Amino acid sequence: MLKLLLPDLRVDTVLDLTPQRLAVLEVRGLLLDVDCTLKRYRAAEVLPEVAAWIDRLRTSDIRMCLVSNGHNGRIARFAQPLGLPFVAMAMKPLPVGCWRATRKLDLPRRQTAMVGDQLFADVVAGKLAGVKTILVKPIHPEDEPWFTRLKRPLERWVLAREQSAGGCDRGSEPQEAVVSDQR
Ligand SMILES: [Mg+2]
Repeated sequence: MLKLLLPDLRVDTVLDLTPQRLAVLEVRGLLLDVDCTLKRYRAAEVLPEVAAWIDRLRTSDIRMCLVSNGHNGRIARFAQPLGLPFVAMAMKPLPVGCWRATRKLDLPRRQTAMVGDQLFADVVAGKLAGVKTILVKPIHPEDEPWFTRLKRPLERWVLAREQSAGGCDRGSEPQEAVVSDQR
């Protein structure tokens, strides 16, 4: 059960995911959560530095797709200026949204990673979908709705257990990064 909750890699922010680092991980496509991963929960736009990061990845031939549980119209408003495809109402932690997104990217699952800030939505969805999983720290978690904040203490407990057991990679240098690739 714990394995379903443990990301393959933990980083502070998506900005840590450079093209070089993704190449080491053999990741060519990213499924990107939106709220608290690319932007503050209530913000109308992604952070400017995140938009610049998306442009850098695009020029390095990294394919990207937004995968959010948000409604279609709202997620479309983020996807359009970024020039990215999207899957809205993804029903994470169910895997179906990740599967739809990997088909849009036309990449094998083992070359794709789900990137998000929530263990019980993004990581579990990615694990069930058979893609790699990367956990980021939430951007301004104090903005989150109560039902998300309720889950945070349990997330911290799971990650602390994993850390004490010497579990997943916590953002070490790329050549040391360990990402499960049995699929
Ligand atoms: Mg999120």
